[in-house]
Amino acid sequence: MKGIQVSSFGESHVLNYVEMDEPVLGDNDLCIRLKATGINPVETYIRSGNYAALPSLPYTPGSDGAGVIEKIGKNVQGFHIGERVYVSTLTGHGTGTYAQKIVCDVGSVYHLPEEMSFEEGAAIGSSGFTAIQALHQKARIQPGEIVLIHGASGGVGSLALQLAKLCGSKVIATAGSEQGLAMLLALGADHVLNHREPDYLQNLSFLTEGKGVDVVIEMLANRNLQNDLDVMAKEGRIVIVGNRGDIEINPRLAMNKEIQITGMLLANMTPEQKGQNAHRLNAALTHGVKPIVEQIFSLAEAKLAHEMVIKQRGSLGKIVLTID
Ligand code: NAP
Repeated sequence: MKGIQVSSFGESHVLNYVEMDEPVLGDNDLCIRLKATGINPVETYIRSGNYAALPSLPYTPGSDGAGVIEKIGKNVQGFHIGERVYVSTLTGHGTGTYAQKIVCDVGSVYHLPEEMSFEEGAAIGSSGFTAIQALHQKARIQPGEIVLIHGASGGVGSLALQLAKLCGSKVIATAGSEQGLAMLLALGADHVLNHREPDYLQNLSFLTEGKGVDVVIEMLANRNLQNDLDVMAKEGRIVIVGNRGDIEINPRLAMNKEIQITGMLLANMTPEQKGQNAHRLNAALTHGVKPIVEQIFSLAEAKLAHEMVIKQRGSLGKIVLTID
């Protein structure tokens, strides 16, 4: 089969499109013939060798994908050959989804709603689980609360926005381009702000009637954490999803307002949380929540997709590879 192999860590040129052996099916596994795979920023950190947990070389990147079941392990129930599914292996190590086929355990495979394309299915996994883990397991959002999604135009944020609206929150969402802001309004944001404009958070006091925001889902903490503390309501919760550097903050604000700052890492999700999140995600997908696909490349063009996902691009959802 064809797939992407990384034999040494480095820039995007180490993503080689090669002929490789098919993965071997275990008794508790499914073999999926993938039609699309989703690109996550973490796959660029791992590929460059700049990440805490690195796979042994050579490896095939990718943890998200969608396709059709080709083989079923003898202990697996509830799935049939030919069914459309999406996968989220959540590790990004070993056998990856940047390939024509993947073998993964039954706990990483989910039925793909009929009306969704394979490209949309490939955009669900890591982004959807991250958005739900941040909103529900970490921030424990309540209906009626005000949620600031700081960086809502990307893969995680565009799903977090829809999920927060679904559970009755008032959502203030940020993007870095006019097109991004328009997309966020179309997805249901109550207010939008451009995080590339100076003083863009100034209006938040007015937008929250002087109260501040109850929850921040933060995609770039090294830029925004101090500003987040400034705009929080009393007993607000900040969930750090994304961070790419250092920042100095004044913890006094966290004391005065009794703010909780929580980090999250998808790989730390417990099996119990994963199960709960899968139910929530499934319910959301059947109630109109939709992954947003920004751009589609072919599997052989993985290098271009890696270059695009990491640059300040004015995001409009998720970058996906189609697989022949
Ligand atoms: P993505 O699709 O590349 O989106 C990046 C988002 O960050 C875009 O909405 C972008 O907005 C926004 N952004 C850029 N500058 C910003 C700023 N100054 N303030 C606020 N937002 C800003 O990436 P993603 O998949 O959504 O992931 C978002 C981040 O979370 C990444 O850093 C990723 O590594 C991390 N992540 C962490 C976990 C975890 O387990 N903790 C899981 C998944 C993702 P514009 O492009 O419109 O400017």
